[in-house]
Amino acid sequence: MPTIYCIGGVSGSGKSELRRNHCLLSRLQCFDIADIYDDYPGIGREAARFRLMEQLEYFLQEEPDESVVLEAFFAPGKLQRRGVEDLANEYDARVRYIWCAAPRDVCWNRVLDDSHFDSDERTQARLDFIREARDKYFYSREGEEPPVLLDWSCRDCGDWPCEAPECSECGRAVDAAQCVDCAERRRQEYTCSRACRRRSRRQDDYGYY
Ligand SMILES: [Zn+2]
Ligand SMILES: [Zn+2]
Repeated sequence: MPTIYCIGGVSGSGKSELRRNHCLLSRLQCFDIADIYDDYPGIGREAARFRLMEQLEYFLQEEPDESVVLEAFFAPGKLQRRGVEDLANEYDARVRYIWCAAPRDVCWNRVLDDSHFDSDERTQARLDFIREARDKYFYSREGEEPPVLLDWSCRDCGDWPCEAPECSECGRAVDAAQCVDCAERRRQEYTCSRACRRRSRRQDDYGYY
């Protein structure tokens, strides 16, 4: 099952940087809502979201086995997320949110630093957005850190990049030949080290009847 990686956060929170510097995410096709704003100057928020969903749907139709990256605000509980989740359901993909966060003034300064790449109008829209966004959007979100990805395909479902399963003892990512979903589906348990293996064996021997 391919994954739709949604990189979210306010303007200037470091979404593009994260993607470009990530050795695996950077190799996937990416659709960035900022490109839509560039291509259609003056386009409204609703129309831009609609375009992004169109691009995603077209990709899912054309490349049903490929994972893909989207960059947008992706505020929790809002329409952008719902749109992606609906398409993921329809096309049998999974969704991973990666939330980028930085303090408000850092976001503000980054947008100013990049302003020569953008029209004045876009820069102003970004700054307005940063000024008006609620405080909670400038904090990281639990469970939405970048996933630990492995540069091979899951032996069961064939996904690349392969999202690492977790150690059943300590929760650390494990170098396995299976992705986290397939490991869960088959109830395959992994341990990350000899110490964790010993601990899990001890539990099997003495614990929990
Ligand atoms: Zn798999
Ligand atoms: Zn462990």
